[in-house]
Amino acid sequence: MHLLPDLTKRVALVTGASRGIGAAVARALAEAGADVAVNYRAEAERAEAVAAELRTLGRRVMAVRADVSQGAEVASCVRRIEAELGPIDVLVNNAGIALVRDIADLTEEDFDRTLAVNLKSAFLCTQAVLPSMQARRWGRIVNISSGAARGAGGIGVHYNASKAGMEGLTRGYAARLMKHGITVNAVAPSLIDTDMTRVRQDNPARRIPLGRLGTVEEVAQAVLMVIGNGYMTGQTVQLNGGTHFI
Ligand code: NAP
Repeated sequence: MHLLPDLTKRVALVTGASRGIGAAVARALAEAGADVAVNYRAEAERAEAVAAELRTLGRRVMAVRADVSQGAEVASCVRRIEAELGPIDVLVNNAGIALVRDIADLTEEDFDRTLAVNLKSAFLCTQAVLPSMQARRWGRIVNISSGAARGAGGIGVHYNASKAGMEGLTRGYAARLMKHGITVNAVAPSLIDTDMTRVRQDNPARRIPLGRLGTVEEVAQAVLMVIGNGYMTGQTVQLNGGTHFI
């Protein structure tokens, strides 16, 4: 038994892979042998740079623009990937936004947008890839949640709700899909060094028992671990430098 997954001949879609955690996950999947679709919404140049880097590993890689909160864009993105790389075996629902809002400042628009990008996108992408995974009786879906699904976090109640919803989605799909050979798990990081945390003014590393932010590679390692384990489903793997003990 290989302890790390061999993803040779597998096709993976990583949403929001132009930078941050998604780019590191895309890199780890390509290193494990997968052909990879690097999704992005706005940062085309950064997505193309990630794709170019992964091609040097000898993989087939495409950068594909889609706002994954929009059903029609997800459908056409998945069609393009299937036409160019083949059916999708591995889906990592990573795209997300973190609009920092106090309760008094949170608008209905902020709430709806956060739920659409962070939660509805995972539903849309999962629904779009399921038919081909079910037909081939194999699939791996990993949803990038957050410590904010359980804790207060520093972003706001809308973000808490989107990530808690994502974990409910994870368990609901997991329960229904194991019999089709498809596992669905969540990875819940807290405070990883990316653009999302760099905009914060409150030096969040001070609140982490380990004394530092996590790295994108540490999150990618957890994603690969989950993908490599065919007996584990419906779980959330937390990685947070010990924050869940405080
Ligand atoms: P990031 O550096 O801000 O990157 C966000 C990524 O999501 C970008 O690739 C962005 O694409 C993409 N994206 C945003 N909206 C999108 C949309 N509507 N459609 C398609 N792609 C979209 O964020 P990150 O820190 O890597 O976070 C990645 C995931 O981890 C998010 O779900 C976040 O909630 C979660 N997370 C992060 C932390 C942390 O501490 N960083 C902790 C817990 C959970 P463009 O580049 O094209 O804009």
